Amino acid sequence: MEEESCYTFDFDRHMDPERFERIKAFAADKETPFVVIDLERIGDKYDELRRLLPYAKVYYAVKANPDDEILKMLIARGCHFDIASVFELDQMLRLGARPDDLSYGNTIKKARHIAYAYEKGVRLFSTDSEEDVRKLAANAPGSKVFFRLLTDGSGADWPLSRKFGAHPDTIYRLILLAAELGLDPYGVSFHVGSQQRDIGQWDNAIATCRYLFDSVAQEGVHLRMINLGGGFPANYVSPTHDIELYSQEITRFLEEDFGDQAPEILIEPGRSLVGDAGVLVSEVVLVSKKSEFNQYSWVYLDVGKFGGLIETIDEAIKYPIFVDAGGAPKEAILAGPTCDSMDILYEDTKYEVPGDITEGDRVYIFTTGAYTTSYSSVNFNGFPPLKAYIFRG
Ligand SMILES: *Cc1c(COP(=O)(O)O)cnc(C)c1O
Repeated sequence: MEEESCYTFDFDRHMDPERFERIKAFAADKETPFVVIDLERIGDKYDELRRLLPYAKVYYAVKANPDDEILKMLIARGCHFDIASVFELDQMLRLGARPDDLSYGNTIKKARHIAYAYEKGVRLFSTDSEEDVRKLAANAPGSKVFFRLLTDGSGADWPLSRKFGAHPDTIYRLILLAAELGLDPYGVSFHVGSQQRDIGQWDNAIATCRYLFDSVAQEGVHLRMINLGGGFPANYVSPTHDIELYSQEITRFLEEDFGDQAPEILIEPGRSLVGDAGVLVSEVVLVSKKSEFNQYSWVYLDVGKFGGLIETIDEAIKYPIFVDAGGAPKEAILAGPTCDSMDILYEDTKYEVPGDITEGDRVYIFTTGAYTTSYSSVNFNGFPPLKAYIFRG
């Protein structure tokens, strides 16, 4: 994790001032906390990705932000979707997505949920274990299956390591087993870790895919697809390379390993599509000091870890924050409103706040379109789940 001694909000990097004024006006009469979702910005991000990786089929990772309006807009643009449960499946079908455009990307699923998805027309599943391959063969016969490689998540601000994927030797066995059981071994997938700042991680994973393609070809199984997963960045405090560079480099890695025999390419962006489109509007509840001569003020907001900012665990994701108040800047510790002591947002990383900050000031937390509403608790301390408003400005 990166050491960040003190953070000062930077409009140039995080928000166009004119657009911010429109969002502020839209938010002015609404009771905090809530996220404003700028739908057009998500559409722009989707179009940009299509332009930069024209050969890739985009499967939006629904879990990043499952708001109906976002999903409907993406359906209308021809996006595909990575779903993780039958509940997300039902939601997508209700909104008019075609089963052919869905990928059941969770390697952990009940047999009866596989059967349900199959009955609804889903024919694309991910897997990473023998038990799951057997469940798929029994409940989704003949379906396309892709095999998830283990990656270590290094370089990522929000690693997904260990829980998902299997070692290449195990994947090799699973591919042959799937063929034997009448499934269609379609390709290999991986996820290099969310908010991945080291583009080279895709290089390693793609090289392992090449190796697996060759190994199973010797046994007569011809894989046709690589799923590059998510991991593309949103614009938080710690800088990343541009999405242009990610696209260029990934394209180069694919060319190096596959030349002109390129397989079909899928990507599953979540964070990079929706993250930048969210502005969480919050309010100061209390400003206090633990002792008279303590250097730092504690600033308690009406949103915290349980209200949608769980990715501040270990201060992993550092959101850009702007406080609408005056006075000479001072460093503060930011915390949420609930009665759990883990509900502190940033303590090691000091955020700069205006000296006159006081109860009732509005606090704008940027890049909060991903993993906020979907991660918010239902009723902890009685606080309701984080609301969202769609902004079509
Ligand atoms: C969460 C998830 C994604 C999205 O990852 P981001 O880093 O948010 O883009 C993609 N694929 C799978 C399988 C996931 O679990």
